[in-house]
Amino acid sequence: MNIGQILKTKARGVSTARAEDTIQEIATRLAQRKIGAVVIVGENGKVVGIISERDIIRLIAEHGPKALTMVASSGMTREVVSCSKTSTLEEIMDAMTQGRFRHLPVIEDGSLVGIVSIGDVVKHHTAEVELEVTAMRGYLATG
Ligand code: AMP
Repeated sequence: MNIGQILKTKARGVSTARAEDTIQEIATRLAQRKIGAVVIVGENGKVVGIISERDIIRLIAEHGPKALTMVASSGMTREVVSCSKTSTLEEIMDAMTQGRFRHLPVIEDGSLVGIVSIGDVVKHHTAEVELEVTAMRGYLATG
């Protein structure tokens, strides 16, 4: 299974924000959309960073309540690891494990076309494993 197939099963659209948006605005968006990260894009729509709930917790731990008035650029990760629609489930599982993060933007021809989370990975990986187990059971049963 590749990422293009996984994206087809998801609601369209990726939540994005701007580097100058405040942490309060980003936190509100994460809460409203029940998501864990937003991709930060520049004026041309290009990815310039990613900010997750973990970054927000870190900012609050470091700066207290005033973290909420800080801007996204002060807490986002700028070196964003991404994947493409042709990346495989195994490849993105490796990337998430190596990078110790749970979100991976999907880039196609330089543009952001989706995002996959650890939740998507677990769901589709479990489905694949279940399919294999069913096939193996059938194979054993028929000898
Ligand atoms: P997460 O596990 O996704 O909440 O993210 C943990 C940390 O990794 C945070 O500092 C994020 O900004 C960062 N991060 C999340 N996704 C990515 C990614 N695709 N590339 C680089 N850093 C990321």
